[in-house]
Amino acid sequence: ESSNPDNKLKKSSPISTTSPSLTSETIVIETIRKQNREATYKKYSKGRFLGKGGFARVYEFIDLDTKKTIAGKIIEKASLTKIRARQKLMSEIKIHKSLHHQNIVKFEHFFEDNENVYILLELCTNQTLSELMRRRKRLTEIEVQCYIVQVISALKYLHAHRVIHRDIKLGNLFLNDKMEVKMGDFGLAAKLEYDGERKRTICGTPNYIAPEILEGKTGHSYEVDIWSLGVLAYTLLVGKPPFETADIKATYKKIRMNYYSFPDHIPLSEDAKSFVRFILITDPASRPNLDQILNDSFLTRNPIPALMPISTLAVPPSSN
Ligand code: ADP
Repeated sequence: ESSNPDNKLKKSSPISTTSPSLTSETIVIETIRKQNREATYKKYSKGRFLGKGGFARVYEFIDLDTKKTIAGKIIEKASLTKIRARQKLMSEIKIHKSLHHQNIVKFEHFFEDNENVYILLELCTNQTLSELMRRRKRLTEIEVQCYIVQVISALKYLHAHRVIHRDIKLGNLFLNDKMEVKMGDFGLAAKLEYDGERKRTICGTPNYIAPEILEGKTGHSYEVDIWSLGVLAYTLLVGKPPFETADIKATYKKIRMNYYSFPDHIPLSEDAKSFVRFILITDPASRPNLDQILNDSFLTRNPIPALMPISTLAVPPSSN
């Protein structure tokens, strides 16, 4: 295979250099060539390490012109030897690039050099709901309402644009400095050609996967995100996913049987429990749609704050 593995990846031809002198910080340089015109360069200083995913390492990138800090996802081309992996990345970029919504991580930019692909994203300084849950164990109903409404807002936008996310879970829901929820990671997302199209690829994260994906008979569509939303709501309220077991096979069996319960020791309102039961319907055709979910009493019984205070990253909100 050549060192230029994918034509579609060839838009600009930047180089990245490491400057070992003085600060020993890495400067990533993007070269932008427009037809026949001189190249222009954009420089980023690679800062703090933010996290690591399946293929990517993520760092703070400081745009040296604007001084703006963004998240830079670095994916080594060497890790993309399999055609499938490359196709998936291209699909993720294509879908994510087309999305513009308050509750979706903004896709800023994408470029590459000989070694890496760089994806620049809106920086979410307060990590994901996964880290939040690790600190807080479980959330209050008011917080769950606040976060779920924002996730629904993102999902309404996605589905209206024929995109299924297919991997809604704690770790893919980021929080920015203002505590706004930002949905990210479109690595498993699918864009439908037409509304009635059914997808067949088995994907998702075990605990959040919808029963129709496990059955695999009729294909799946937007309803898989609704199922994951129900799993998410339960997880935020209870502190662990509804179908969690020690092994994946047993989890899948529980999902297919829709077998879960609310632990007695956790005080939950009837509204909250009914809300989860309302969403986690095995038959995708009978599952509620996003507007019906927004009209459920759990989300209409009291005013819901637009954002939670920063203090709730560590401690529950005060109830007055
Ligand atoms: P992958 O697609 O390879 O799984 P992720 O998108 O999950 O990579 O990113 C890995 C980690 O990097 C995340 O868990 C998070 O800690 C951090 N991260 C990713 N995107 C951002 C972002 N926009 N802002 C802040 N941190 C981020």
